[in-house]
Amino acid sequence: MSKREIAARILDNSLVRGFWRAGGRFRKGLRILAYHRVLDYAPTSFPFDEAVISASPDEFYQQMKFVKQHFEVISFADLYECEKAGRQWPNRALIVTFDDGYRDNYTNAFPVLNAFNIPATIFLVTGHIGQTKLFWWDAVAYCIKHTKLLAKNFPQISSQTLSLVKASDKQFAIHLILGWIKHVPDKVSRKFLERLPDELKVEMPDDLGAGVHLSWDEVREMSKQKIEFGSHTVTHPILANISEAQLEREIVESKKTIEQELGKEILSLAYPVGRKSKFNQLAQKLAANHGFRYAVSYEEGVVFQKEFDPFAMPRVHVETEYSKSLFRANLMFPHLILGGERWPHLALEYQEAMKLSASGMTQES
Ligand SMILES: [Zn+2]
Repeated sequence: MSKREIAARILDNSLVRGFWRAGGRFRKGLRILAYHRVLDYAPTSFPFDEAVISASPDEFYQQMKFVKQHFEVISFADLYECEKAGRQWPNRALIVTFDDGYRDNYTNAFPVLNAFNIPATIFLVTGHIGQTKLFWWDAVAYCIKHTKLLAKNFPQISSQTLSLVKASDKQFAIHLILGWIKHVPDKVSRKFLERLPDELKVEMPDDLGAGVHLSWDEVREMSKQKIEFGSHTVTHPILANISEAQLEREIVESKKTIEQELGKEILSLAYPVGRKSKFNQLAQKLAANHGFRYAVSYEEGVVFQKEFDPFAMPRVHVETEYSKSLFRANLMFPHLILGGERWPHLALEYQEAMKLSASGMTQES
């Protein structure tokens, strides 16, 4: 069990939750939840990249129930209104986000969000909306999972020949290739991706991604409810690995396309992959210059009104392997679980919470 899981299980009990709801500085700060896909899947037969599945529909329902009970869920538009009016953000503010624009956001997440009347933002990769072309990570996973080759050497990635016999070998190969793609210049990874099906002798029919991504009709339908849309670029490149001209195109065109389709101003952007090393100051500057108000990264953390960079807002991740306790503790005590050393001024509250928690309550499911 990870240190985070252990801490989460200690902190997630009804006494601590009561203490948290009652007040304290722990409630300060905006949490931005980061989801990708919401989907039930069979690990042995899932054809694409399961690493982007954040929760099953049942888990998502439970998570939104908890969020509704404990937080004030707002949208980026609400945040912007608040700032324009010079108001303080609400205590316990939370924004729900989804990256990429998978169709399960519409079929599985949207009904739950509607049921709880929770707003959310979906960051769209506009070049894939209404299209059947797979995202690059799904294409890599598909090729590796479907190749009949027993081993393969990719000299540019590793000096070792990769075994492709067992499912665990294949997972390792997918992980290695995706990690490599994130580090090399875009031109190099594009060429590699183009040749991958042939290299692995895998057929990739054009309609392979049918039903995987949202359509513009679905986007429009959700936009009439409480779903906001943001940009996640046109092709989902690693922004730090592309030219300045392409960077500008990816940021400007994605915004323009969504605004044309919806007839609404787009306020927010999510950097693809989103770790600090994967976007740069130029991307932040372009986002600001081209009318975005906010941009989210994939760094983990909470956003404090007094000290935040609107073009590098961290988020709280959601992963299928997280227990219910870790999901809850990440949200209630992100200052602790996501790295307490970054919020030394909260050390006292942390000690209080731990003392309270050690006072005999058992953890609930
Ligand atoms: Zn993404």
